[in-house]
Amino acid sequence: MIHPLLVTITTRQSARQFKLRSWLLWVLLGCWMITIGLVYSYQQQLQQAQQALTLSQHEFDQSLNSIRELREAEQQLFTQLDSQYDRWRHFDNRLQGVEVLAGLSEVDITPIPTPYQGRLAQVQHKIQLRQQMLTKIPNGNPMEYRRVSSQFGSRKHPISFKRHRHTGVDLRADKGQPIYATADGYVQQARDNYDRGYGNMVTLSHQMGFDTRYAHMNSVAVKYGQFVRKGELVGYCGNSGDSTASHLHYEVRFLGNAIDPKPFMSWNLANYEQIFETVGTLPWDSFQAELTQQLQPLEPQLSQQVPSSMVPLSSVATFTSTGK
Ligand SMILES: [Zn+2]
Repeated sequence: MIHPLLVTITTRQSARQFKLRSWLLWVLLGCWMITIGLVYSYQQQLQQAQQALTLSQHEFDQSLNSIRELREAEQQLFTQLDSQYDRWRHFDNRLQGVEVLAGLSEVDITPIPTPYQGRLAQVQHKIQLRQQMLTKIPNGNPMEYRRVSSQFGSRKHPISFKRHRHTGVDLRADKGQPIYATADGYVQQARDNYDRGYGNMVTLSHQMGFDTRYAHMNSVAVKYGQFVRKGELVGYCGNSGDSTASHLHYEVRFLGNAIDPKPFMSWNLANYEQIFETVGTLPWDSFQAELTQQLQPLEPQLSQQVPSSMVPLSSVATFTSTGK
């Protein structure tokens, strides 16, 4: 049996005693135990929270470092992209310049949707076509000359003084000045030691129905039937035949009919399309279509120059026939 607990409270004047019963003692003991338990539990939770906070702080620092590294990488990437973009713009501008030179109109140039291989193939084909045209059809001067002493067309003949149609141009130059073929062709006529009419002369037969004549020569440098390339020597300037001074009588004929040589003499790559207007009576589209057909065997060579996914010539030929 547990006896009641006596508690004495003493003051200066008196002292009082309280009797604590046993059940009250148990209640106080229980409260004290619960309080101790709660304090311990809170301490544990606080410790865990501090550990979690430390861990989060560490992870936060790591994330911050990662973000800094990513930003630096992003900056480097943007710098590289800027550099690549500048190079791409430079290349694109140059390609557009070449496309314009090659005769691809503004409408034909679509830089973004058309792959560069395709655009390069188009430019190559255009340039090939123009080179072929300027090789097969007479163009440029047959000789270095001082002046044009007589134009194509109606004139008074220098010997008979009668009005007649002058079928070529007369180019004044010294005797012995070399004369060159104005296009690839075969020697249809090589007449030497002849002193009447055209005198010593060479006639070249070219593709597409063209002929050129070189008359009043001092001497000829080619033989009948021989193939000559554009720019190859055909003879020397002279004064043979019905001529009053050393000069070259130069003719351009289409299907046997003499036409004014002047537009052909000034025709070159830089003003390539001009002649289609000045000599608008000729079927230029037909010539270009024919030469496009002749260029087909060159496709494998072009493929070697522009590897991978190159647009075949058969597909780019469609626009070439629209431009003159
Ligand atoms: Zn003449």
